[in-house]
Amino acid sequence: MDVVATIAELRARTDAARAAGQRVGFVPTMGFLHEGHTSLMDAARRDCDLVVASIFVNPLQFGAGEDLAAYPRDLPRDLALSEAAGVDCVFAPDVEEMYPRPVLTTVSVADVTARFEGASRPTHFAGVATVVAKLFAIVGGCRAYFGEKDWQQVCVVRRMAADLSLPVEVVACPTQREDDGLARSSRNVYLSPEQRAAAPVLHRALRRGADAIDGGERDPAVVEAAMAAVVAEEPLALLDYAAAVEADTLVSPAVLVGDVRLLVAARVGAPRLLDNLGVTIPPAGP
Ligand code: AMP
Repeated sequence: MDVVATIAELRARTDAARAAGQRVGFVPTMGFLHEGHTSLMDAARRDCDLVVASIFVNPLQFGAGEDLAAYPRDLPRDLALSEAAGVDCVFAPDVEEMYPRPVLTTVSVADVTARFEGASRPTHFAGVATVVAKLFAIVGGCRAYFGEKDWQQVCVVRRMAADLSLPVEVVACPTQREDDGLARSSRNVYLSPEQRAAAPVLHRALRRGADAIDGGERDPAVVEAAMAAVVAEEPLALLDYAAAVEADTLVSPAVLVGDVRLLVAARVGAPRLLDNLGVTIPPAGP
């Protein structure tokens, strides 16, 4: 496995692969890898000839007062896990390589960023869209693998790639969970033992929402209230939002139908956790 730190080296590598007729797979990450990340690498390994992963804690997507300085990092371990997952090339630039000058050009995606994470973290998605656009420009034509765990991010990146005609196919991969349902996340290390024990409440809330839909409920407000009630039962959890929305647009429909996404975010102590679940509702019969 190669480890490259410069844009020029990575671009040369992916250009050469495409020139040789190879398919490039790309997995962008902020490192501190876990099975969620390696599942994306596994998917890229299955589909592609050259698998590239990036490890870069992107300052642009952290707001003032967020955990940029404290964000967990362990590059040697990340490199070992990447190699074990069959990655061919890790791109691990420093901030100076990615942003040598103040960033004057940013990418902002409207509408789909307006609610949920975008409402709680107003500069977050412009930071994500800007770094992902930049990484796509460096890697070039590829399949890029993202986790459903960050569903709104998938929607933002897909829409950006489509709107800007970027030569990238965005592939969304299923959320990897702990045995008790907690979605794996680099930020789970922030949880105290008590908070860790409380954290699966998000997944339980999503399951309650999905059960309500399976039971025939089609009113988003009723499904949302059912999810919120589950979170309210956990004293350590403070709900930010519980929503049932159209999967692609994140719009609240009058009636739930088709591809629906259940979204939940809550603080469990100081750490803020998010999770989501997809439900497909067939159209009502005649
Ligand atoms: P991050 O390092 O947190 O920026 O995540 C990098 C990529 O891994 C993103 O596409 C995430 O959605 C994805 N990811 C993070 N956690 C999980 C998980 N539990 N299951 C699947 N994908 C994940």
